[in-house]
Amino acid sequence: MRRTLFESLVKSPLTEASPGPGPDDAALAELAANVERAARRRLGRSLSIREVDAGSCNGCELEIHALNNAFYDLERFGLRFVASPRHADVLLVTGPVTKNMREALQRTYAATPDPKWVVAVGDCAADGGIFSESYAVVGGVRDVVPVDLHIRGCPPSPTQLLKGLLALLEPRWT
Ligand code: SF4
Repeated sequence: MRRTLFESLVKSPLTEASPGPGPDDAALAELAANVERAARRRLGRSLSIREVDAGSCNGCELEIHALNNAFYDLERFGLRFVASPRHADVLLVTGPVTKNMREALQRTYAATPDPKWVVAVGDCAADGGIFSESYAVVGGVRDVVPVDLHIRGCPPSPTQLLKGLLALLEPRWT
């Protein structure tokens, strides 16, 4: 115990020492800036995103949260996660839709003002994925609300999420 305490005093924190997400920071920043520009063109302002977990294993949530962490720091590009669907342009929906979450998803969709887009994130959101046979699952997101875009992956990476948002805002890219 004493040795651990001593080491924690002399070693620098791991979070400061770690190099962060290596994959091409410049390309990532450019991608995020493109998403912001496209959002301003389509909406005249920045993009507000409401995340809805309709029954996922939380793997997709970890990647979505990563978009907002100190390394990716999406807010610098005006991409914001909001707490209420009433303030959202995009619903990012993860997971297979469970029977318990079906009504909540429908109500969230109804509460989101037009124009709005629904993005189904992850393989489970597309068709129920590995949980599709479960008695507790209704199916994919499109079985409950209209979906504008599927971003495949288990889970999709933050970069894939950003590319998906850009494809959504720039229809010529889809
Ligand atoms: S797609 Fe993969 S990570 Fe996402 S909810 Fe399904 S099993 Fe979990």
